[in-house]
Amino acid sequence: MLQFLSMSESELLKVKADLEDRYNQFKAQGLKLNMARGKPATDQLNLSMKMLDTLNSGSDMHSSTGDDCRNYGLPDGLPELRELFAELMGVDDNNIIVGGNSSLNMMFDAVSCAMTHGFAGCEPWGKQGHIKFLCPSPGYDRHFAITEYFGFELIAVPMLATGPDMDVVEKLIHDDASVKGIWCVPKYSNPTGITYSDETVRRFAALKPAAKDFRIFWDNAYCVHDLTDTPDTLLNLWQECRKNNTIDLPIFFASTSKITFPGAGIAAMGASEKNLSVLREHYSFQTIGPDKLNQLRHIYFLKDLDGVMDHMTKHRALLEPKFRTVLGRLESELGGKGVAEWTSPNGGYFVSVDVLNGCAKRVVSLCKEAGVTLTGAGATYPYGKDPNDQNIRVAPTYPPVAELEQAMELFCICVQLAAAEKLLNK
Ligand code: PMP
Repeated sequence: MLQFLSMSESELLKVKADLEDRYNQFKAQGLKLNMARGKPATDQLNLSMKMLDTLNSGSDMHSSTGDDCRNYGLPDGLPELRELFAELMGVDDNNIIVGGNSSLNMMFDAVSCAMTHGFAGCEPWGKQGHIKFLCPSPGYDRHFAITEYFGFELIAVPMLATGPDMDVVEKLIHDDASVKGIWCVPKYSNPTGITYSDETVRRFAALKPAAKDFRIFWDNAYCVHDLTDTPDTLLNLWQECRKNNTIDLPIFFASTSKITFPGAGIAAMGASEKNLSVLREHYSFQTIGPDKLNQLRHIYFLKDLDGVMDHMTKHRALLEPKFRTVLGRLESELGGKGVAEWTSPNGGYFVSVDVLNGCAKRVVSLCKEAGVTLTGAGATYPYGKDPNDQNIRVAPTYPPVAELEQAMELFCICVQLAAAEKLLNK
């Protein structure tokens, strides 16, 4: 396989002309495919339809504590669901609040609470002047958007195969009390799919931020979303923080959005007593309590951790062929050509592709013109600006395999075409 970088100009011109032919054939097909967001496909949603049958007018509407779930009460959620989330998140069940349908909503609430009322008895973040938030990149655009919305300066931190570059994190937080937090997706990270190494987790637990009100937003959105027989394991940050006397540093989040129904699942948050006392007060003004009927539905359907793991094997059976298709295409079309590198995750919802510097926007727009919508280039960086214009998040979950085959063939053509254009223009 000839590397693009070692081709002569005439070889490149010939390759480019062939690619343009293939590209134009695709364009003529009038495709309309979408790989933009990490949504479960319809067959995945169908896996949870029986959950809707678990609750009807004849069902027991009481929690294990005897509370009537149709009424107000249990602001921290059903105890049995708190226990389940405690296991999923690796946090004590007394330290869990089970909320509404969205963990992103709870993250927004936590930031909002700190903005107006502050953590650790400090001035509210919103009254401290210029404040900063660390954004491991490539990362999740909606995380970055929350802190941008609240007026933080977003600081990109490089993502390594072991997690965020901890040398950079430690340096940034050590002397600068205006750095208030960091976004983390520690398992099967969005979009790189990597899981933080034990050393990274230990370094997080041992952080010594200048700001007393610095918080780690530990979003374990993909905690049970394995795709192989050799799943990643994540060291338990809660326990590590206990050992280090830093239990007030992290706030944990998770949801069943990619287990049952996104938008109609259950989310939870976990934190130390001190953090929870601030957050519970905030919630006591915000709501009289969560939708406990949906919580009951989830516990009737999923039952316990074994039930969740069992359910996740069904998701895996549907998702594995899709990831195989994407990774197979990348390897067969781009392998050895020196025009892209990509991750091969053991779980989660994404494959992250790095194309040649300065080519990501071009690849996304070429795909769009030919009918395939991808996540916008740059979306995985703060302010939507990828300094190298290099990273593209591929979301294999939603389209059927046959469509993925087409979309990925086109994607690989566009990656090469953009590379050839770039090398010829040098
Ligand atoms: N966190 C991460 C890392 C995600 O990828 C997503 C969904 N794409 C969410 C949170 C959203 O979670 P929820 O539906 O619970 O708000």
